[in-house]
Amino acid sequence: MSQTENTMDQIVALCKRRGFLFQSSEIYGGINGFWDYGPLGTELKRNVRNSWWADMIGRHDEINCPEGAPSAYSMVGIESSIIMHPQVWKCSGHYDLFHDFMVDCTESKKRYRFDHVKGRWAEAEKKTRGVDGQPGTSEQMKVFITTMDAGEETEQQLVEKALKFFGLKAKYKDQIDWQGEIMPLEKLDDLSQAVAPDASRVGTMTEPREFNLMFKTTLGALGGAEDAAFLRPETAQGMFVNFKNVVDSSRVKLPFGICQIGKSFRNEITPRNFTFRSREFEQMEIEFFCRPDESAKWYEYWRNRRFAWYTSLGIGSDKLQLREHHKEELAHYSVGTADIEYAFPFLTPGEFGELEGVAHRGDFDLRSHMEGKLDGNLKLQLDENGQPKHRGSGKDLSYFDDQARERFVPHVIEPSAGADRATLAFLCEAYTVDEAPDDKGEMQTRTLLKFHPRLAPVKAAIFPLIKKEGMPETAAKIYAEFREAGLNVDYDQQGAIGRRYRRHDEIGTPYCITVDGQTADDQTVTVRDRDTLEQVRVPINKLTEEILTRLKG
Ligand code: ATP
Repeated sequence: MSQTENTMDQIVALCKRRGFLFQSSEIYGGINGFWDYGPLGTELKRNVRNSWWADMIGRHDEINCPEGAPSAYSMVGIESSIIMHPQVWKCSGHYDLFHDFMVDCTESKKRYRFDHVKGRWAEAEKKTRGVDGQPGTSEQMKVFITTMDAGEETEQQLVEKALKFFGLKAKYKDQIDWQGEIMPLEKLDDLSQAVAPDASRVGTMTEPREFNLMFKTTLGALGGAEDAAFLRPETAQGMFVNFKNVVDSSRVKLPFGICQIGKSFRNEITPRNFTFRSREFEQMEIEFFCRPDESAKWYEYWRNRRFAWYTSLGIGSDKLQLREHHKEELAHYSVGTADIEYAFPFLTPGEFGELEGVAHRGDFDLRSHMEGKLDGNLKLQLDENGQPKHRGSGKDLSYFDDQARERFVPHVIEPSAGADRATLAFLCEAYTVDEAPDDKGEMQTRTLLKFHPRLAPVKAAIFPLIKKEGMPETAAKIYAEFREAGLNVDYDQQGAIGRRYRRHDEIGTPYCITVDGQTADDQTVTVRDRDTLEQVRVPINKLTEEILTRLKG
């Protein structure tokens, strides 16, 4: 097992052990691609969402705009429905374009995303063992060995798969004659020559089938074909279809942002890597509307502001990258798209996984909802009869700029983040193994989650050193005071003090407060810092203030 797999396994185990995350419906064997947050995970994810909302919307003040913004702007929130009019998805492009190709293996019953499988031609003598006293057989075969793309480890995995297929021991690996380069399975003309990643035989893969990633459901009791509806695959369309409602009902003026946090659903073919690729997940999205001639500046601004948000909450900038899409990858109307990516531990070192996309979308979305589905050149898509392929709403979604006395369709910058991926990145980043002295002063390995104080599920833990001499009563008073101040804190009097510290290190509690023998004499307690292990004495009457200041980070 590689180091990266090892770390990830340990994080997954900790999440289950301490109640951050559980497989959904686990008592029935689980359901692939769905996850439940336990008590601590719920607090953590809520803190992620709240930080996003507070930093992007709640604390936003359009008069004193954040530093570096091209001009003053406002931000408002909405909560739109998960099921929307089916026409929304036709005009957004999801109905026609939100497809992946998949292949099934008839032997292993596994399903793979076609573009995620790689392979290479290999030739060797395939040996099969004899059964019932019959001699084994051997046959010279040339097949296309495949595996799920695993970055730098793909080659090594192909060797392992080939050894298995040809029935060879590892020491005979030189008997395999590899031909050509590793290439995507998509490039193979005839799939019957391929050995599926988990198959023992050749030719067990079905032809690729198109698969729409939107979950379909039916409205009403009778449910004919015309009653089909979809669970939203993104929250963004809620902002576009409500653009006019928000402009007409609130006092926003361009530039402004409409934001939303909510569940999205994608029937991912191969959900994997813990919560990274799930079928039900939560998004935190902003649609920022601006004048077309200012959109390039705003794109730049949001790209940088969103990147800085992750580092402000503790993600090391060496593990984070802003990857600009190449010009060829961009739609014709777009000035730029950048992904904010994190070096998740389940990836090969050097690889990054997407946390958030920041896209300049021009006026594509608003115009599509006005006029009908547009193509990449902003021309109305027509069917074979020359009619609009998907009609728009016919409503005017333009904006009148009363200062410039101009009417136009605003341009949009879309920072689109995943709440679950962000939570997973914060968890991975926080996971640390170091050494710390135990109760006897001997160095022991300890596991801790170094969450930023704003994200930590439990902000402080209060311990009486022993269960007598009035210590529990004093600790209980402090506990009640913290709760009163709105802090999620824990009271713990079970076990040796060192073990209590470890328990809270492992769930990322930044401060442990101990009431001890000295407390009765001078009304002070010790405050222990999770990361530095430093302990200082603080007067009880200054404690809440001290912890609140420290938590601001
Ligand atoms: P990917 O290429 O990884 O499938 P995407 O480019 O399709 O992602 P977007 O459509 O840009 O993703 O969605 C915006 C954000 O929503 C992503 O950056 C990610 O954080 C989150 N997200 C998308 N799909 C999933 C998923 N299946 N599970 C968890 N989060 C997701």
